[in-house]
Amino acid sequence: MSLCIEALLKQTAQQLAEAGSDSPQLDAAVLLCHVLDKPRSYLLTWPEKTLDSEQSAAFEAVLRRRLAGEPVAYIVGEREFWSLPLKVAPHTLIPRPDTERLVELALDKIPAQPCSVLDLGTGTGAIALAIASERPDISVTGIDLRPEAAQLAEENSRNLHITNTRFTAGSWYSPLTADDSFAVIVSNPPYIDKTDPHLDQGDVRFEPKTALVAEEHGLADIRVISEQGRRYLQQGGWLLMEHGFEQGEAVRNILLELGYSQVSTAQDYAGLDRVTMGCWQG
Ligand code: GLN
Repeated sequence: MSLCIEALLKQTAQQLAEAGSDSPQLDAAVLLCHVLDKPRSYLLTWPEKTLDSEQSAAFEAVLRRRLAGEPVAYIVGEREFWSLPLKVAPHTLIPRPDTERLVELALDKIPAQPCSVLDLGTGTGAIALAIASERPDISVTGIDLRPEAAQLAEENSRNLHITNTRFTAGSWYSPLTADDSFAVIVSNPPYIDKTDPHLDQGDVRFEPKTALVAEEHGLADIRVISEQGRRYLQQGGWLLMEHGFEQGEAVRNILLELGYSQVSTAQDYAGLDRVTMGCWQG
């Protein structure tokens, strides 16, 4: 006898809690909606419905993956960021709510008139698409090392009918020409030290190391982005980068040494240092 939706959710949440998920109820509901191809409201409206055998088998399969630690976003292939539903894939980082802070701060620095913005290490295109959706009058370029990521970001832009972005593959600024220049450059680069024990826990175990880990205690890519950014920022343009909560001072020092001005660090929603920015006066 198969369980009804209500009982199944309860049993699944318990299994997920025992397996160490920090959001067992939510995981159970999201996985079940994915299998049933229904919105969350369906689960509350039809708690007494039972799954047919095909749905039960599909649910068992996704639950097994989640119990083995695989992130929900990779199983369902989607994650919402800045209220935009984005396709995600194992070759991209899963967008984090904290990164919405970087979007808010960048929006604040983008001039009122039409201009160009660059997002380095765009992954799913989350940051570029969030900015482009708020500012249809500007043009946003997203670059990712992996061609599959640039393609996925492009696909996300098409699905969301966002037309003021373009995505391209390459290492940091390499796909650009000497004529390209930007009013704002944003990035959520890899910034975790390779010995950080947090890499062996939870979702990050399944995410690409290239999107997470950087040399020089996590600061190597931040340094490259800051150094080369000076060539691509317009006079008075801003560079904003996400980083680890203990890296604020180190990132400020990198920007100051490179000649950026008005250097400051902003906190994430948990009150931790998360984004450092500086202005390039040329
Ligand atoms: N903030 C992410 C984490 O700590 C890492 C993102 C990144 O390296 N850019 O899980």
